[in-house]
Amino acid sequence: MPLIIFSGFPTSGKSTRAAQLHAYLTERIAAEAESAQKGSSDTDPHNSTKPKKPPYRLHLISDATLSIPRTVYDLSALPAHARSANAPEKDARASIYGAVKRVLSDRDIVILDGLNYIKGWRYQLHCEAKAASTPSVVVQIGCTTERAREVNEARLRRRDTKRRKGTTKTEEQDQGAGKVETPPAQSDTPQEQKEQENEGLEGDDEEPYEPENWDNLVFRYEEPNPMTRWDSPLFTLVWDDDAEQARRTFDGIWDAIAGQGRKTVKPNQATAQRNRETSSDYLYVLDRETQDVVRRILERQEEGGGEVGGSVKVSSGGDSEAELTVELPGKRVGLPQLQRLRRAFVGLNRGGIGLEGVGDFSVSRMREAFVGYLNDSFEKEE
Ligand code: ADP
Ligand code: MG
Repeated sequence: MPLIIFSGFPTSGKSTRAAQLHAYLTERIAAEAESAQKGSSDTDPHNSTKPKKPPYRLHLISDATLSIPRTVYDLSALPAHARSANAPEKDARASIYGAVKRVLSDRDIVILDGLNYIKGWRYQLHCEAKAASTPSVVVQIGCTTERAREVNEARLRRRDTKRRKGTTKTEEQDQGAGKVETPPAQSDTPQEQKEQENEGLEGDDEEPYEPENWDNLVFRYEEPNPMTRWDSPLFTLVWDDDAEQARRTFDGIWDAIAGQGRKTVKPNQATAQRNRETSSDYLYVLDRETQDVVRRILERQEEGGGEVGGSVKVSSGGDSEAELTVELPGKRVGLPQLQRLRRAFVGLNRGGIGLEGVGDFSVSRMREAFVGYLNDSFEKEE
């Protein structure tokens, strides 16, 4: 079972890409079977009905196919002491594991569409594939948190409208709704109304995540690292990748699991090289790096128990050994506040910090700029 593990933020477009990959692989497998058939009938006239190489079977496993609801990831409903052992989520992982294992064979290609945000979990899946002597790959869906959040908020609004109106499916009635959290974003002008109607949810009937659940999943997300054997080879698709780029990536995946590249898949393989606009890369990296700084601050505060203030050392990223220092204000800084500051910073810099044009835009300059921004903001609070 070549195993294809999707990973990404909630509502970042994983299922969309997984469905595209499923369609692509269906085609590839059919083509493969056909050419094997031809090959065998050419060389072996007595065996013309049996393809030499058995075709792959294809499986798509996701929370939806296993009827796992979004709520299993929700820690807010649990008392604090039960959070680290989140039982519903563990049960969900167990059933995913079971489903993957059931179809485990070298002839079965499994697309596992899901958050797969815990690195230890991806490691387990990798080992499972390895045990079946078959390759595993990770496909990361790169999407800014802003974009992903918009999708979830649109789904929340749609659900809210449905509930209020007691309607079921009619698209017209689904839209133009007030917001769940911050009412009332009523449409005053035709233009606004149009924007609300164009939420890009046509034909989409997925459930939203509760806002707090969503925030938490983004916070808990453990970025795949192509330097580890379980996260490699690592393929990346970003929101703006068009059909052509996606196809190139899918070709690479096919090669890694079934094509010539298969035998040469080695641990520590770096992320597949890709050509694409640097602008979407830039936003993605900006998002990821600022998220990482936020995570470190929260971790440090946790370690310090009830202590407030003081400073937090944050690595400056990139190749540099240097450290940056965040000076905390004299009170606890929570996730919502940090996320607010982070979003403001990303908003300010979405045009670039003047380094995205140079190709190898520097992670350390991004982090430095963000830490500077945080320090300024905290200082103002004092
Ligand atoms: P996930 O599986 O990560 O929760 P989905 O694949 O369900 O996310 O996508 C969420 C929404 O975003 C869907 O309405 C989908 O149509 C839209 N979407 C996803 N990826 C893209 C993309 N690359 N470009 C445009 N719209 C997208
Ligand atoms: Mg999905």
